[in-house]
Amino acid sequence: TSGEPALRQDAGATEAAATAATRAAAGLSIVMPVYNEAGGLAALHARIVSVARALKQRWGLACEVVYVDDGSRDRSLAVAATLPPDGLDVQVIALSRNFGKEAALLAGLEHSRLGAVLFMDSDGQHPPAMVERLAGHWIDDGYDVVFTAKASRKAESFLRRLFGRTFYTLINWGSRHKIPEDAGDFRLLSPRAAAALRQLPERNRFFKGLASWIGFRQLRIDYEPAAREHGTSSWNFGALLGLSIEGLTAFSVAPLRIASLLGIALAATAFLFGLQILIEALFFGTAVPGYPSLLVGVMVLGGVQLIMIGVMGEYIAKILSETKGRPVYFVAERSLKQAGPAAPPE
Ligand code: UDP
Ligand code: MG
Repeated sequence: TSGEPALRQDAGATEAAATAATRAAAGLSIVMPVYNEAGGLAALHARIVSVARALKQRWGLACEVVYVDDGSRDRSLAVAATLPPDGLDVQVIALSRNFGKEAALLAGLEHSRLGAVLFMDSDGQHPPAMVERLAGHWIDDGYDVVFTAKASRKAESFLRRLFGRTFYTLINWGSRHKIPEDAGDFRLLSPRAAAALRQLPERNRFFKGLASWIGFRQLRIDYEPAAREHGTSSWNFGALLGLSIEGLTAFSVAPLRIASLLGIALAATAFLFGLQILIEALFFGTAVPGYPSLLVGVMVLGGVQLIMIGVMGEYIAKILSETKGRPVYFVAERSLKQAGPAAPPE
């Protein structure tokens, strides 16, 4: 009955008897991936400090913020190192290079020291003012996963919306467990939900999907993301496409199923076509025309086969990277500044 897994289950077992006070006693770790955000970090930290103060006042909730520097090329790390532990602990974790946002989130999750975990972008698009509301749904209402979703996608281009639609249709196709559409990474996890996420062994992480897959009591909050305050989004179309393929192959075998269905459809068509040729030759004595149609057939088949080999390759690549079992990230430096005596009330 010792060891961490047992402990983690115990944390869940007590949930039935939990009250706001016992939940708040677990504390909250705010995890922020940072990649080239030097410009806005100090201002954002000031807002986090005041949010932490409000949380402390309302529920006695202790907070820490975990900045995960994902190999920034600007002064982000230097700026993060100067941020004061004003009424909340400040952890700074520097990864050894740029591993990508999902890896940074995992690093933050694994290094967070308090019970509940909140993921938040460090570019100001996830309004700190909403944190108190998210925390309330956990502390007062007992939700385990409070996730946010874009209230509207009107600001996005038609192509991007079409792309998103297609992605969610594909990923949710035929799966019993649907991943909510438009959910973002701004999300609060109760201690047992965070523990569940830490227990998942896979290296290829797609947090949106995983956080929904673990179950527990989930709540969706719609909101309007703020405009980026500094710099530019580091996602271009290529990166988005990469993440989509990542998510798709991690969560769904729909692409493989499409391969099978397409194969069946093509085989059936070929069979009917063959039958037609046979009948024409036997009963009508028609010489078989159609060098062009032959060429089209060969090219269609060749193309489809290549695409599907590529699809299968994606899955094999995933198996390869999982079996290699490499760490998802390396920590180059880590620092912790404990909150001083509670910040004086203003
Ligand atoms: N980010 C990161 N590593 C990366 C790219 C981004 O840690 O390789 C962080 C970035 O600092 C920000 C968050 O992930 O806090 C979201 O990034 P971004 O704003 O570029 O994405 P978008 O808001 O457009 O989805
Ligand atoms: Mg952003």
